[in-house]
Amino acid sequence: MIQKILIANRGEIALRIVRACRELGIKTLAVYSEADVQSLHVQLADEAICIGGPKSSDSYLRADRIISAAEIADVDAIHPGYGFLSENAKFAEQCESCNIKFIGPKSKSIKMMGDKAVAKDTVRKAGVPIVPGSDGPVESEADAVKVARKIGYPVIIKAVAGGGGRGMRIAHNDVSFAKEYHVARNEAEKAFGDGAVYIEKYIEKPRHIEFQILADSHGKVLHLGERDCSVQRRHQKLIEESPSPFLTSDLRKKMGKAAIKAAEAAEYENAGTIEFLVDAKGNFFFIEMNTRIQVEHPVTEEVTGIDLIKQQIRVANGDKLDFDQGDVKFDKHAIECRINAEDPARNFIPSPGTIGLYYAPGGHGVRLDSHVYSGYTIPPYYDSMIGKLICFGSTRKSALERAYRALSEYIIRGIKTTIPLHKAIMADPVFIEGKATTAYMEDFMARTPPDLFS
Ligand code: ADP
Repeated sequence: MIQKILIANRGEIALRIVRACRELGIKTLAVYSEADVQSLHVQLADEAICIGGPKSSDSYLRADRIISAAEIADVDAIHPGYGFLSENAKFAEQCESCNIKFIGPKSKSIKMMGDKAVAKDTVRKAGVPIVPGSDGPVESEADAVKVARKIGYPVIIKAVAGGGGRGMRIAHNDVSFAKEYHVARNEAEKAFGDGAVYIEKYIEKPRHIEFQILADSHGKVLHLGERDCSVQRRHQKLIEESPSPFLTSDLRKKMGKAAIKAAEAAEYENAGTIEFLVDAKGNFFFIEMNTRIQVEHPVTEEVTGIDLIKQQIRVANGDKLDFDQGDVKFDKHAIECRINAEDPARNFIPSPGTIGLYYAPGGHGVRLDSHVYSGYTIPPYYDSMIGKLICFGSTRKSALERAYRALSEYIIRGIKTTIPLHKAIMADPVFIEGKATTAYMEDFMARTPPDLFS
Protein backbone atom coordinates (compact mmCIF):
# COMPACT_ATOMS: atom_id res chain seq x y z
CA MET A 1 0.00 0.00 0.00
CA ILE A 2 1.21 3.47 -0.86
CA GLN A 3 1.54 5.40 2.40
CA LYS A 4 3.75 8.33 1.52
CA ILE A 5 4.18 10.23 -1.75
CA LEU A 6 6.88 12.64 -2.88
CA ILE A 7 5.50 15.37 -5.11
CA ALA A 8 8.09 16.22 -7.74
CA ASN A 9 6.48 19.47 -8.82
CA ARG A 10 5.40 22.91 -7.69
CA GLY A 11 2.53 25.39 -8.00
CA GLU A 12 -1.11 24.49 -8.34
CA ILE A 13 -0.55 20.87 -9.38
CA ALA A 14 1.61 20.17 -6.33
CA LEU A 15 -1.18 21.57 -4.17
CA ARG A 16 -3.78 19.52 -6.08
CA ILE A 17 -1.81 16.35 -5.30
CA VAL A 18 -1.35 17.28 -1.61
CA ARG A 19 -5.13 17.71 -1.36
CA ALA A 20 -5.90 14.34 -2.97
CA CYS A 21 -3.40 12.59 -0.69
CA ARG A 22 -4.90 14.25 2.42
CA GLU A 23 -8.29 12.85 1.51
CA LEU A 24 -6.83 9.39 0.94
CA GLY A 25 -4.92 9.47 4.25
CA ILE A 26 -1.56 9.34 2.43
CA LYS A 27 1.39 11.37 3.79
CA THR A 28 3.10 13.86 1.48
CA LEU A 29 6.61 15.11 1.00
CA ALA A 30 7.06 18.37 -0.90
CA VAL A 31 10.38 19.03 -2.58
CA TYR A 32 10.99 22.67 -3.44
CA SER A 33 13.46 25.15 -4.83
CA GLU A 34 14.82 28.10 -2.87
CA ALA A 35 12.38 30.32 -4.79
CA ASP A 36 9.33 28.36 -3.56
CA VAL A 37 9.72 28.53 0.23
CA GLN A 38 6.50 30.60 0.39
CA SER A 39 4.52 28.27 -1.81
CA LEU A 40 1.29 26.79 -0.39
CA HIS A 41 2.15 23.22 -1.31
CA VAL A 42 5.30 23.48 0.81
CA GLN A 43 3.29 24.77 3.73
CA LEU A 44 0.49 22.22 3.42
CA ALA A 45 2.53 19.06 2.80
CA ASP A 46 3.37 16.90 5.81
CA GLU A 47 7.11 17.27 5.16
CA ALA A 48 9.21 19.42 2.87
CA ILE A 49 12.80 19.23 1.63
CA CYS A 50 14.62 21.95 -0.28
CA ILE A 51 16.37 20.43 -3.29
CA GLY A 52 18.25 23.38 -4.78
CA GLY A 53 18.37 26.77 -6.37
CA PRO A 54 15.55 28.64 -8.12
CA LYS A 55 16.32 27.50 -11.67
CA SER A 56 14.45 24.31 -12.64
CA SER A 57 17.73 22.81 -13.82
CA ASP A 58 19.02 23.18 -10.24
CA SER A 59 15.94 21.75 -8.54
CA TYR A 60 12.75 20.39 -10.18
CA LEU A 61 14.73 18.78 -13.00
CA ARG A 62 17.37 17.24 -10.70
CA ALA A 63 16.33 13.58 -10.72
CA ASP A 64 19.30 12.65 -8.49
CA ARG A 65 18.28 15.07 -5.72
CA ILE A 66 14.63 14.08 -5.95
CA ILE A 67 15.44 10.38 -5.64
CA SER A 68 17.78 11.13 -2.68
CA ALA A 69 14.97 13.08 -0.99
CA ALA A 70 12.63 10.14 -1.63
CA GLU A 71 15.10 7.78 0.01
CA ILE A 72 15.83 10.02 3.00
CA ALA A 73 12.12 10.48 3.69
CA ASP A 74 11.29 6.85 2.90
CA VAL A 75 8.44 7.45 0.44
CA ASP A 76 6.71 4.67 -1.52
CA ALA A 77 5.88 6.64 -4.62
CA ILE A 78 6.61 9.80 -6.61
CA HIS A 79 3.94 11.86 -8.34
CA PRO A 80 5.58 13.90 -11.10
CA GLY A 81 2.60 16.20 -11.93
CA TYR A 82 2.95 17.73 -15.41
CA GLY A 83 5.98 19.34 -17.05
CA PHE A 84 9.41 18.95 -15.39
CA LEU A 85 10.24 15.19 -15.15
CA SER A 86 6.72 13.91 -15.80
CA GLU A 87 7.47 12.61 -19.31
CA ASN A 88 11.08 11.69 -18.70
CA ALA A 89 11.39 7.94 -19.32
CA LYS A 90 14.80 7.82 -17.66
CA PHE A 91 13.41 9.30 -14.45
CA ALA A 92 10.53 6.79 -14.46
CA GLU A 93 13.10 4.04 -14.97
CA GLN A 94 15.24 5.33 -12.09
CA CYS A 95 12.20 5.28 -9.81
CA GLU A 96 11.36 1.75 -10.96
CA SER A 97 14.90 0.55 -10.26
CA CYS A 98 14.97 2.20 -6.81
CA ASN A 99 11.73 0.43 -5.95
CA ILE A 100 9.81 3.68 -5.77
CA LYS A 101 6.48 3.67 -7.63
CA PHE A 102 6.34 6.27 -10.40
CA ILE A 103 2.74 7.50 -10.51
CA GLY A 104 2.31 7.29 -14.24
CA PRO A 105 2.81 4.79 -17.03
CA LYS A 106 5.72 2.38 -17.37
CA SER A 107 8.91 3.97 -18.75
CA LYS A 108 8.47 1.86 -21.91
CA SER A 109 5.19 3.64 -22.76
CA ILE A 110 6.67 7.07 -22.02
CA LYS A 111 9.53 6.34 -24.41
CA MET A 112 7.23 5.06 -27.13
CA MET A 113 4.86 8.04 -26.99
CA GLY A 114 7.55 10.63 -26.20
CA ASP A 115 9.07 10.25 -29.64
CA LYS A 116 6.30 11.77 -31.71
CA ALA A 117 7.32 9.94 -34.87
CA VAL A 118 7.31 6.54 -33.11
CA ALA A 119 4.00 7.46 -31.45
CA LYS A 120 2.34 8.19 -34.79
CA ASP A 121 3.65 5.00 -36.30
CA THR A 122 2.47 2.93 -33.33
CA VAL A 123 -1.09 4.25 -33.38
CA ARG A 124 -1.31 4.11 -37.18
CA LYS A 125 -0.54 0.40 -37.04
CA ALA A 126 -3.40 0.04 -34.56
CA GLY A 127 -5.77 1.57 -37.11
CA VAL A 128 -6.00 5.11 -35.70
CA PRO A 129 -5.99 7.89 -38.33
CA ILE A 130 -2.92 10.16 -38.24
CA VAL A 131 -2.12 13.45 -39.99
CA PRO A 132 -0.42 12.69 -43.34
CA GLY A 133 3.31 13.43 -43.16
CA SER A 134 6.86 12.12 -43.20
CA ASP A 135 7.56 8.59 -41.99
CA GLY A 136 9.55 9.63 -38.95
CA PRO A 137 12.13 12.41 -38.80
CA VAL A 138 13.40 13.94 -42.05
CA GLU A 139 17.12 13.42 -42.62
CA SER A 140 18.01 16.50 -44.67
CA GLU A 141 16.55 19.68 -46.10
CA ALA A 142 16.34 18.07 -49.54
CA ASP A 143 14.38 15.11 -48.16
CA ALA A 144 12.16 17.43 -46.20
CA VAL A 145 11.23 19.50 -49.26
CA LYS A 146 10.39 16.31 -51.16
CA VAL A 147 8.01 15.23 -48.40
CA ALA A 148 6.45 18.72 -48.22
CA ARG A 149 5.75 18.73 -51.95
CA LYS A 150 4.38 15.22 -51.84
CA ILE A 151 1.85 15.91 -49.08
CA GLY A 152 1.14 19.39 -50.49
CA TYR A 153 1.45 22.82 -48.87
CA PRO A 154 0.70 24.15 -46.31
CA VAL A 155 2.80 21.91 -44.07
CA ILE A 156 3.89 22.13 -40.45
CA ILE A 157 7.44 21.33 -39.37
CA LYS A 158 7.45 19.86 -35.87
CA ALA A 159 10.12 18.84 -33.36
CA VAL A 160 10.30 15.09 -32.72
CA ALA A 161 10.97 15.88 -29.06
CA GLY A 162 8.40 18.72 -29.09
CA GLY A 163 6.20 20.01 -26.31
CA GLY A 164 4.53 23.20 -25.15
CA GLY A 165 3.97 24.32 -28.73
CA ARG A 166 7.68 24.98 -29.30
CA GLY A 167 9.72 24.05 -32.36
CA MET A 168 6.70 24.23 -34.68
CA ARG A 169 6.70 26.24 -37.94
CA ILE A 170 4.26 26.51 -40.84
CA ALA A 171 5.34 26.74 -44.48
CA HIS A 172 3.12 27.63 -47.44
CA ASN A 173 5.58 27.08 -50.32
CA ASP A 174 9.14 25.97 -51.14
CA VAL A 175 10.56 29.42 -50.37
CA SER A 176 9.09 29.74 -46.89
CA PHE A 177 9.84 26.07 -46.27
CA ALA A 178 13.59 26.59 -46.71
CA LYS A 179 13.55 29.30 -44.04
CA GLU A 180 11.13 27.71 -41.57
CA TYR A 181 12.89 24.34 -41.71
CA HIS A 182 16.03 25.87 -40.24
CA VAL A 183 14.15 27.98 -37.70
CA ALA A 184 12.27 24.89 -36.48
CA ARG A 185 15.49 22.85 -36.18
CA ASN A 186 17.23 25.62 -34.24
CA GLU A 187 14.28 26.12 -31.92
CA ALA A 188 14.04 22.37 -31.29
CA GLU A 189 17.79 22.13 -30.63
CA LYS A 190 17.59 24.99 -28.12
CA ALA A 191 14.42 23.86 -26.36
CA PHE A 192 14.93 20.09 -26.31
CA GLY A 193 18.62 19.53 -27.11
CA ASP A 194 17.45 17.57 -30.14
CA GLY A 195 17.09 19.24 -33.54
CA ALA A 196 15.25 16.35 -35.23
CA VAL A 197 12.04 17.44 -36.99
CA TYR A 198 9.25 15.79 -38.96
CA ILE A 199 6.73 17.14 -41.43
CA GLU A 200 2.94 17.04 -41.30
CA LYS A 201 0.14 18.33 -43.45
CA TYR A 202 -1.02 21.60 -41.88
CA ILE A 203 -4.71 21.19 -41.12
CA GLU A 204 -6.38 24.59 -41.61
CA LYS A 205 -8.54 25.88 -38.78
CA PRO A 206 -8.91 22.57 -36.96
CA ARG A 207 -10.24 21.94 -33.52
CA HIS A 208 -8.00 20.44 -30.89
CA ILE A 209 -10.03 17.70 -29.23
CA GLU A 210 -8.41 15.29 -26.79
CA PHE A 211 -9.64 12.23 -24.92
CA GLN A 212 -8.86 11.45 -21.30
CA ILE A 213 -7.69 7.88 -20.83
CA LEU A 214 -7.60 5.92 -17.60
CA ALA A 215 -6.04 2.46 -17.63
CA ASP A 216 -5.20 0.06 -14.81
CA SER A 217 -2.41 -2.49 -14.57
CA HIS A 218 -4.85 -5.33 -15.21
CA GLY A 219 -5.58 -4.45 -18.83
CA LYS A 220 -8.69 -2.30 -18.44
CA VAL A 221 -8.57 0.86 -20.59
CA LEU A 222 -11.41 3.41 -20.39
CA HIS A 223 -11.96 6.89 -21.76
CA LEU A 224 -13.53 9.69 -19.73
CA GLY A 225 -14.72 11.75 -22.65
CA GLU A 226 -13.18 14.64 -24.51
CA ARG A 227 -11.90 18.15 -23.88
CA ASP A 228 -12.04 20.81 -26.57
CA CYS A 229 -8.82 22.84 -26.28
CA SER A 230 -9.12 24.87 -29.48
CA VAL A 231 -8.65 28.23 -27.77
CA GLN A 232 -4.86 28.47 -27.95
CA ARG A 233 -2.24 31.14 -28.34
CA ARG A 234 0.94 30.12 -30.13
CA HIS A 235 -0.16 26.47 -29.88
CA GLN A 236 -0.56 26.78 -26.11
CA LYS A 237 -3.93 26.18 -24.53
CA LEU A 238 -5.79 29.00 -22.80
CA ILE A 239 -9.31 27.59 -22.37
CA GLU A 240 -10.54 24.00 -22.26
CA GLU A 241 -14.07 22.68 -22.08
CA SER A 242 -16.03 19.47 -22.08
CA PRO A 243 -18.10 18.32 -23.88
CA SER A 244 -16.86 19.85 -27.13
CA PRO A 245 -19.55 22.02 -28.73
CA PHE A 246 -18.49 20.54 -32.09
CA LEU A 247 -18.79 16.78 -31.54
CA THR A 248 -21.88 14.79 -32.43
CA SER A 249 -22.53 11.71 -30.31
CA ASP A 250 -21.59 9.56 -33.28
CA LEU A 251 -18.20 11.25 -33.77
CA ARG A 252 -17.60 11.17 -30.00
CA LYS A 253 -18.11 7.39 -29.99
CA LYS A 254 -15.76 6.90 -32.94
CA MET A 255 -13.05 9.09 -31.43
CA GLY A 256 -13.41 7.51 -27.99
CA LYS A 257 -12.89 4.07 -29.53
CA ALA A 258 -9.85 5.30 -31.48
CA ALA A 259 -8.40 6.86 -28.31
CA ILE A 260 -8.71 3.55 -26.46
CA LYS A 261 -7.05 1.73 -29.37
CA ALA A 262 -4.16 4.21 -29.31
CA ALA A 263 -3.68 3.77 -25.55
CA GLU A 264 -3.78 0.00 -25.90
CA ALA A 265 -1.14 0.17 -28.63
CA ALA A 266 1.09 2.05 -26.18
CA GLU A 267 0.44 -0.65 -23.55
CA TYR A 268 -0.70 2.23 -21.46
CA GLU A 269 -1.36 2.26 -17.76
CA ASN A 270 -2.48 5.18 -15.50
CA ALA A 271 -3.94 8.54 -16.72
CA GLY A 272 -3.01 9.81 -20.16
CA THR A 273 -4.39 11.88 -23.01
CA ILE A 274 -4.82 11.16 -26.69
CA GLU A 275 -4.79 14.40 -28.69
CA PHE A 276 -6.55 14.75 -32.05
CA LEU A 277 -7.04 17.50 -34.57
CA VAL A 278 -10.50 17.54 -36.12
CA ASP A 279 -11.17 19.30 -39.43
CA ALA A 280 -14.35 21.15 -40.39
CA LYS A 281 -15.79 18.00 -41.97
CA GLY A 282 -15.32 15.94 -38.81
CA ASN A 283 -12.25 14.01 -40.00
CA PHE A 284 -10.02 13.39 -37.01
CA PHE A 285 -6.29 12.75 -36.82
CA PHE A 286 -4.09 11.64 -33.90
CA ILE A 287 -1.31 14.15 -33.18
CA GLU A 288 0.22 12.95 -29.94
CA MET A 289 -0.25 11.25 -26.60
CA ASN A 290 0.58 12.97 -23.32
CA THR A 291 1.73 10.33 -20.87
CA ARG A 292 0.89 12.24 -17.69
CA ILE A 293 -1.87 14.15 -15.94
CA GLN A 294 -2.77 17.28 -17.93
CA VAL A 295 -3.23 20.85 -16.72
CA GLU A 296 -6.87 20.70 -17.87
CA HIS A 297 -7.80 17.46 -16.05
CA PRO A 298 -10.30 19.22 -13.70
CA VAL A 299 -12.66 19.81 -16.64
CA THR A 300 -13.08 16.03 -16.95
CA GLU A 301 -13.34 15.64 -13.17
CA GLU A 302 -16.24 18.08 -12.98
CA VAL A 303 -18.10 16.49 -15.92
CA THR A 304 -17.69 12.89 -14.77
CA GLY A 305 -17.33 13.26 -11.00
CA ILE A 306 -14.17 11.12 -11.11
CA ASP A 307 -11.10 12.32 -9.17
CA LEU A 308 -8.26 11.69 -11.60
CA ILE A 309 -5.41 12.19 -9.13
CA LYS A 310 -6.89 9.66 -6.72
CA GLN A 311 -7.41 7.25 -9.61
CA GLN A 312 -3.77 7.71 -10.62
CA ILE A 313 -2.63 6.81 -7.12
CA ARG A 314 -4.93 3.77 -6.97
CA VAL A 315 -3.72 2.52 -10.35
CA ALA A 316 -0.07 2.96 -9.27
CA ASN A 317 -0.94 0.97 -6.17
CA GLY A 318 -2.01 -1.92 -8.41
CA ASP A 319 -5.76 -1.56 -7.74
CA LYS A 320 -8.29 -2.46 -10.42
CA LEU A 321 -10.50 0.29 -11.85
CA ASP A 322 -13.80 -0.42 -10.12
CA PHE A 323 -16.06 0.88 -12.92
CA ASP A 324 -16.61 0.18 -16.59
CA GLN A 325 -17.03 2.38 -19.66
CA GLY A 326 -20.82 2.25 -19.36
CA ASP A 327 -20.64 3.60 -15.79
CA VAL A 328 -18.92 6.85 -16.84
CA LYS A 329 -21.56 9.57 -16.91
CA PHE A 330 -21.18 12.83 -18.79
CA ASP A 331 -23.92 14.92 -17.32
CA LYS A 332 -22.35 18.35 -16.89
CA HIS A 333 -20.61 21.00 -18.92
CA ALA A 334 -17.31 22.35 -17.55
CA ILE A 335 -14.95 25.05 -18.73
CA GLU A 336 -11.47 25.99 -17.53
CA CYS A 337 -9.76 29.37 -17.90
CA ARG A 338 -6.01 29.38 -17.36
CA ILE A 339 -5.10 32.35 -15.17
CA ASN A 340 -1.61 33.45 -16.18
CA ALA A 341 0.53 36.23 -14.72
CA GLU A 342 0.88 37.88 -18.12
CA ASP A 343 -0.21 41.14 -19.73
CA PRO A 344 -2.51 40.29 -22.68
CA ALA A 345 -2.43 43.92 -23.85
CA ARG A 346 1.37 43.82 -24.14
CA ASN A 347 1.83 40.69 -26.16
CA PHE A 348 1.39 38.44 -23.10
CA ILE A 349 4.64 39.58 -21.51
CA PRO A 350 5.14 37.74 -18.18
CA SER A 351 4.16 39.76 -15.13
CA PRO A 352 5.84 38.24 -12.08
CA GLY A 353 5.82 40.16 -8.79
CA THR A 354 4.04 40.41 -5.47
CA ILE A 355 0.28 40.02 -5.29
CA GLY A 356 -1.43 42.73 -3.26
CA LEU A 357 -5.12 42.26 -2.62
CA TYR A 358 -6.33 38.81 -3.61
CA TYR A 359 -9.96 37.78 -3.67
CA ALA A 360 -10.96 34.37 -5.04
CA PRO A 361 -14.38 33.79 -6.60
CA GLY A 362 -16.65 31.06 -5.28
CA GLY A 363 -20.26 29.97 -5.17
CA HIS A 364 -22.22 27.26 -6.93
CA GLY A 365 -20.36 25.53 -9.77
CA VAL A 366 -17.04 27.32 -9.27
CA ARG A 367 -13.72 25.60 -8.57
CA LEU A 368 -10.41 27.39 -8.28
CA ASP A 369 -7.15 25.43 -8.31
CA SER A 370 -4.42 27.87 -7.33
CA HIS A 371 -1.44 28.10 -5.04
CA VAL A 372 -1.35 31.89 -4.73
CA TYR A 373 -2.71 34.23 -2.06
CA SER A 374 -2.45 37.87 -0.85
CA GLY A 375 1.21 38.78 -0.36
CA TYR A 376 2.52 35.84 -2.43
CA THR A 377 5.43 36.69 -4.72
CA ILE A 378 5.34 34.99 -8.12
CA PRO A 379 8.90 33.95 -8.91
CA PRO A 380 10.16 34.76 -12.41
CA TYR A 381 11.75 31.34 -12.95
CA TYR A 382 8.80 29.18 -13.90
CA ASP A 383 5.85 29.24 -16.24
CA SER A 384 3.34 32.00 -15.71
CA MET A 385 0.23 29.98 -14.86
CA ILE A 386 -0.94 30.93 -11.37
CA GLY A 387 -4.28 29.21 -11.31
CA LYS A 388 -7.13 27.53 -13.10
CA LEU A 389 -10.72 28.65 -12.79
CA ILE A 390 -13.10 25.81 -13.57
CA CYS A 391 -16.82 26.55 -13.82
CA PHE A 392 -19.54 24.02 -14.47
CA GLY A 393 -23.26 23.66 -14.88
CA SER A 394 -25.89 21.44 -16.45
CA THR A 395 -25.59 23.19 -19.83
CA ARG A 396 -22.82 24.94 -21.78
CA LYS A 397 -24.73 28.19 -21.46
CA SER A 398 -24.87 27.99 -17.67
CA ALA A 399 -21.16 27.06 -17.44
CA LEU A 400 -20.18 30.05 -19.60
CA GLU A 401 -22.43 32.46 -17.68
CA ARG A 402 -20.96 31.19 -14.43
CA ALA A 403 -17.43 31.61 -15.75
CA TYR A 404 -18.20 35.22 -16.71
CA ARG A 405 -19.68 35.85 -13.27
CA ALA A 406 -16.74 34.24 -11.43
CA LEU A 407 -14.16 36.11 -13.53
CA SER A 408 -15.96 39.36 -12.67
CA GLU A 409 -15.53 38.63 -8.95
CA TYR A 410 -11.90 37.55 -9.18
CA ILE A 411 -9.48 40.23 -7.89
CA ILE A 412 -5.69 39.96 -8.18
CA ARG A 413 -3.91 43.26 -7.59
CA GLY A 414 -0.23 44.06 -8.08
CA ILE A 415 0.34 42.07 -11.27
CA LYS A 416 -1.25 41.75 -14.70
CA THR A 417 -3.26 38.61 -15.42
CA THR A 418 -5.34 36.97 -18.13
CA ILE A 419 -8.57 37.45 -16.12
CA PRO A 420 -9.87 40.39 -18.23
CA LEU A 421 -9.01 38.51 -21.43
CA HIS A 422 -11.04 35.49 -20.34
CA LYS A 423 -13.94 37.76 -19.44
CA ALA A 424 -13.89 39.29 -22.91
CA ILE A 425 -13.83 35.81 -24.49
CA MET A 426 -16.76 34.60 -22.37
CA ALA A 427 -18.76 37.53 -23.78
CA ASP A 428 -17.63 37.04 -27.40
CA PRO A 429 -20.44 35.83 -29.73
CA VAL A 430 -18.08 33.61 -31.80
CA PHE A 431 -16.98 31.77 -28.67
CA ILE A 432 -20.48 31.66 -27.21
CA GLU A 433 -21.76 30.06 -30.42
CA GLY A 434 -19.16 27.30 -30.03
CA LYS A 435 -17.37 28.20 -33.24
CA ALA A 436 -13.78 28.52 -31.94
CA THR A 437 -11.09 26.65 -33.85
CA THR A 438 -7.34 26.86 -33.19
CA ALA A 439 -7.38 30.01 -35.37
CA TYR A 440 -9.78 31.72 -32.96
CA MET A 441 -7.34 33.60 -30.71
CA GLU A 442 -5.49 35.31 -33.51
CA ASP A 443 -8.76 36.54 -34.96
CA PHE A 444 -10.09 37.56 -31.54
CA MET A 445 -6.98 39.59 -30.68
CA ALA A 446 -7.02 41.32 -34.06
CA ARG A 447 -10.64 42.47 -33.80
CA THR A 448 -10.83 43.28 -30.08
CA PRO A 449 -9.63 46.65 -28.69
CA PRO A 450 -6.92 46.06 -26.03
CA ASP A 451 -8.78 48.05 -23.38
CA LEU A 452 -11.32 45.21 -23.33
CA PHE A 453 -8.74 42.80 -21.96
CA SER A 454 -6.19 44.90 -20.10
P1 ADP B 1 3.02 20.18 -28.41
O1 ADP B 1 3.45 18.83 -27.98
O2 ADP B 1 4.16 21.13 -28.59
O3 ADP B 1 1.91 20.74 -27.57
P2 ADP B 1 1.14 19.25 -30.45
O4 ADP B 1 1.53 18.27 -31.49
O5 ADP B 1 0.30 18.76 -29.32
O6 ADP B 1 2.45 20.00 -29.90
O7 ADP B 1 0.38 20.47 -31.15
C1 ADP B 1 -0.01 21.63 -30.45
C2 ADP B 1 -0.95 22.47 -31.28
O8 ADP B 1 -0.32 22.84 -32.52
C3 ADP B 1 -2.23 21.75 -31.71
O9 ADP B 1 -3.22 21.81 -30.72
C4 ADP B 1 -2.60 22.56 -32.94
O10 ADP B 1 -3.20 23.79 -32.59
C5 ADP B 1 -1.26 22.85 -33.57
N1 ADP B 1 -0.92 21.79 -34.57
C6 ADP B 1 -0.12 20.72 -34.38
N2 ADP B 1 -0.06 19.96 -35.50
C7 ADP B 1 -0.82 20.56 -36.42
C8 ADP B 1 -1.19 20.26 -37.78
N3 ADP B 1 -0.72 19.19 -38.42
N4 ADP B 1 -2.03 21.12 -38.43
C9 ADP B 1 -2.53 22.21 -37.81
N5 ADP B 1 -2.22 22.55 -36.53
C10 ADP B 1 -1.39 21.74 -35.84
